[in-house]
Amino acid sequence: MVEESGGLIREQPQRWDYETRFREYALLLGRKGKDGLESINKYPEKIELNSVWHQALDRMRGETKGDGHERYGLISYDENAREFCFPEISTKGEPDSVPVQVISDEVERAKDELKITSVVGEIHTHPIERPFSDNDLLRLLDDLGKPSLLMSGLTTDKLNIFAFRTRETIPINKFSNVTKEYLRFFETYWRKRAGFKLSKDSSEIVGESLFSNMWKMNFGIAEKHHLALYKGKPKEDLVRIHTDKPQMWIWSDLLGEVLKG
Ligand SMILES: [Zn+2]
Repeated sequence: MVEESGGLIREQPQRWDYETRFREYALLLGRKGKDGLESINKYPEKIELNSVWHQALDRMRGETKGDGHERYGLISYDENAREFCFPEISTKGEPDSVPVQVISDEVERAKDELKITSVVGEIHTHPIERPFSDNDLLRLLDDLGKPSLLMSGLTTDKLNIFAFRTRETIPINKFSNVTKEYLRFFETYWRKRAGFKLSKDSSEIVGESLFSNMWKMNFGIAEKHHLALYKGKPKEDLVRIHTDKPQMWIWSDLLGEVLKG
């Protein structure tokens, strides 16, 4: 479909079928890395996942539901089999995070034991109905991250949520590690925009008003850094929720949409 948007004609394909489109895209990303990324305007309204994906997502969702701890797994791509691979057993994190050390152990294991060469992203779970945190999305924007991520998936009890890098994505760094000051700025800025702040004892983040909502942070970061953002119900297609319109106009509409379904 071609649609007029802000004076620009932009292509908006309706759906990427798994077999013909999404898998091919992953193959390209596996081979070319960031150079294979699509323009944000080319990301479709819907993305189909296949049963391998849904099984991996559902299994991790179930594990987190069982003990309240987050789970973590790499999304890798096997060029010979032309298929995505997910770990049989996902890595267990803490109730509210997956420690950095746990992630780097997982990456080492993938390289050494499983001989995985092409990591395209990561999946993790949240035990509560909450979208990506600032740190989750920060990882996707880090050019020097290990692994360097092109997509990030998240499951909650009711949703699958995905963020994809695009050709236009603005990373937080290109040549050197970001400073602690920048990380703190990023964290504080986006939490504030979403209506959250650190609790007095700094142990958790708390909403400042009735309008506090973590989705605002997800929309804001996606817009600012040009990430393609999707959500879908378990076993269903991912549906596009990012937009190229200025966030102040659409946040309330988007929020309504997201909370409705
Ligand atoms: Zn998270």
